[in-house]
Amino acid sequence: MPYDETNIFAKILRGEIPCNKVAESPTALAFHDIHPKASVHILVIPKGPYTDFVAFHEQAPEKTIVDFYQLVNQVVEQAGLRDGGFKLVTRSGVDGGQEVPHFHVHILGGQKLD
Ligand code: AMP
Repeated sequence: MPYDETNIFAKILRGEIPCNKVAESPTALAFHDIHPKASVHILVIPKGPYTDFVAFHEQAPEKTIVDFYQLVNQVVEQAGLRDGGFKLVTRSGVDGGQEVPHFHVHILGGQKLD
């Protein structure tokens, strides 16, 4: 599936719409989910045009992939989730229920999760 430049996260990355930023690296951005499903709900996205998990791992340079997960880990620490625990989620495609076609990882925590 080709990358859709009009998706909402692409607009955030271009600065066309705001986000509530949590952290940033040269190749990735973390911000609060607009409709949080837990007391802490943060999204981490790569800055490059990757549609989903598979596209990211097939197309991104290795350093970008490492950098991405380092930012996920940094946000877990920064949000104070390390001791209490947390959940990482990524959806892909129709069966996965992915709504925004730009790869992202949800970080959920701050409460007991199902
Ligand atoms: P997914 O279903 O995995 O594609 O998740 C997309 C997530 O993006 C949902 O949890 C939405 O609440 C979130 N979302 C959509 N628009 C925005 C936005 N403008 N800022 C922050 N989060 C958003």
